[in-house]
Amino acid sequence: MVYPKGSLKTAMKVNLDLHIHSKHSAATSEKMDLATIAREAEKKGIRMVATGDCLHPGWMAEVAALPERDGLFLIEDTAFVLTTEVEDSSKVHHLIIVPCPSKASELREAFSGRGAGLDSEGRPALRMTPPEIADAALEADCLMGPSHAFTPWTGLYAHYKSLEECYQERSSQIRYIELGLSADSDYADRISQLKDRTFLSNSDAHSPWPNKLGREFNEMEMEDLSFEGLRKAIFREGGSGPTLNVGLYPEEGKYNRTACTRCFRHFSMGEMNERRGRCGCGGLIKMGVKDRVEMLADLPEPNHPDHRPPYLHMIPLAEIIAMALGVKSVYSSKVQRIWNELVREKSEIEVLMQADLSEISSEEAVIDAIFAFRSADVVVEPGGGGRYGSISLRNGPKDRERDDQRSLSDF
Ligand SMILES: [Zn+2]
Ligand SMILES: [Zn+2]
Repeated sequence: MVYPKGSLKTAMKVNLDLHIHSKHSAATSEKMDLATIAREAEKKGIRMVATGDCLHPGWMAEVAALPERDGLFLIEDTAFVLTTEVEDSSKVHHLIIVPCPSKASELREAFSGRGAGLDSEGRPALRMTPPEIADAALEADCLMGPSHAFTPWTGLYAHYKSLEECYQERSSQIRYIELGLSADSDYADRISQLKDRTFLSNSDAHSPWPNKLGREFNEMEMEDLSFEGLRKAIFREGGSGPTLNVGLYPEEGKYNRTACTRCFRHFSMGEMNERRGRCGCGGLIKMGVKDRVEMLADLPEPNHPDHRPPYLHMIPLAEIIAMALGVKSVYSSKVQRIWNELVREKSEIEVLMQADLSEISSEEAVIDAIFAFRSADVVVEPGGGGRYGSISLRNGPKDRERDDQRSLSDF
């Protein structure tokens, strides 16, 4: 058994990614195993990562075999927290954070006979309404909220007008919403009913590679690294709480714009209605997150409550390297080699956000590209209809003497 270095009493800022899926969920990488996730999370700079899929008996058995402390499971410096995503009877997804294995068993029992795939699928589909699921989750001392709340098909707002309509009498106990890749807090804080909720920015990664795992994460001030510490941070109790949401530019998300799901052509809402949701190619036009927020918003501009942390837009380092080299794939051996060299001494998050660029040795074009990222000197082509947006550097190499670089310490 490997125990973590040092104490778990931290009273410090921790980077957390609270939504991933294991190799047991549909359409996930075979490499979503605990050892690989722990190793890649450490390189990324994520200290606490979700297990995902904790209702799956095989996955839970693997997790439970790890050393446990205060509800978290440890591989060296990476702490896993038990989580699962479930689909309700109207196909809306919910993210449940679970305090310990016995509560995961309680939840399984409450769900047994009420759905498909509890033994075989990491993300089970339940024949239960959101209030029924919330009853079970909250009674088992779990935390619960909607996953990727604004996305078409499986986001809460694709089916309900409000948290109250979705969770009914349980809605006041729903303390967080997950923004999803296609939204940020400027989007969600145009909806005043969300002002008291904590916003989570999580990766929903299906593979462990650094352009997926931790592509969105939360930085939180935590009393200690424990389930209770996490609960307090999400509930914003005793000085704990989120200090930063970090994620993709919302336009990079694959559901940002209203678009055809077959040919990915973009449409305005007016055009979508005129065409009754059908593209000329015969495909289905799906409302994007941007238009959905526009429809739901009761505020013309985002109004951030005092507790809301800044939202920092991030581009995964592997994508920055690929852009700098003019290489199409982040999985190319050259990109991977440079990425591995850069994260040998520091985590990816440190390289991207904090490191003194004059002290990093890499190809000149890569350093320039990191600088351009820090200066937000990027152009985003929005995604939609299930196709990710794309991002490019606005100009070529930059004069690095400019002083408008952003870094985590600015927040
Ligand atoms: Zn989901
Ligand atoms: Zn089409």
